Amino acid sequence: MMVFTLAAQGQGNTTPLRIIMIGAHPDDCDIDGGGTAILMASMGHAVKFVSVTNGDAGHQSQGGGALAKRRMAEAKEAGKRFGVTYDVLDNHDGELMPSLDVRLQVIRKIREWKADVVIAPRPNDYHPDHRYTGVLVQDAAYMVTVPNVAPDVAPLVKNPVFLYFQDGFQRPNPFRPDIVVDITPVIDKKIHAMAAHESQFFEWLPWIGGYAGEVPKDKSLWEPWLKKKMEREITEDLKKTLDKWYGSGRSASARFVEAFEVCEYGKQPSADDMRNIFPMVGK
Ligand SMILES: [Zn+2]
Repeated sequence: MMVFTLAAQGQGNTTPLRIIMIGAHPDDCDIDGGGTAILMASMGHAVKFVSVTNGDAGHQSQGGGALAKRRMAEAKEAGKRFGVTYDVLDNHDGELMPSLDVRLQVIRKIREWKADVVIAPRPNDYHPDHRYTGVLVQDAAYMVTVPNVAPDVAPLVKNPVFLYFQDGFQRPNPFRPDIVVDITPVIDKKIHAMAAHESQFFEWLPWIGGYAGEVPKDKSLWEPWLKKKMEREITEDLKKTLDKWYGSGRSASARFVEAFEVCEYGKQPSADDMRNIFPMVGK
């Protein structure tokens, strides 16, 4: 009911845009931007997720091509549930380098999607694949408009808006929430879509995180358990930004949020541009 209300609110005052979210692994975009993607897609934007690696290292007892195939199938199912298309690039997990070869793969993906907005991690993160995905996407900014680079795919006429997913890393500088999206109305849908990555949320991540014993034996309890696991404190900083965009009072009811920072290397969006990119915040 709530979702319908939100979607209806956005109709008629939004120019449909093409959004591409780029993560290192099949499940990264889901975690960091999945709720926003559901809302964007329901309000008319075309959204694509890209995983730069095939996820073939993300398991304690499986690996290689068989794991890559399993994770590809999980990503496709997740994409259906989110309402986005999901591409997985065939680079090894845990071994990603910010090479020219992969930069060109990223440039082609952004161009082929004719992206107006690109969302990726910041290049400061504990995981080298996340870090280098941040570098690769930064390196693709501007270059997506240069015709002689990857000349087999038409360049973009305009440099897209580049945004960063939220993270908690403090050095060299902490994440700055330029916009915060209240995803509370779609949190159950987000969790259901994330749960398509069974190999991750119910096998690998609990194992590597040392909490495998917490995963419910009964599969029907998986999604409520995962939702509990995804609870995060909404800091004063996030609340302030939430109220700035939605109007004061929103932070009192928001339970789940996703935040984004504007990258300096793309088009610098005006406040109106941001409201068009994020129609769920309203006018
Ligand atoms: Zn990851």
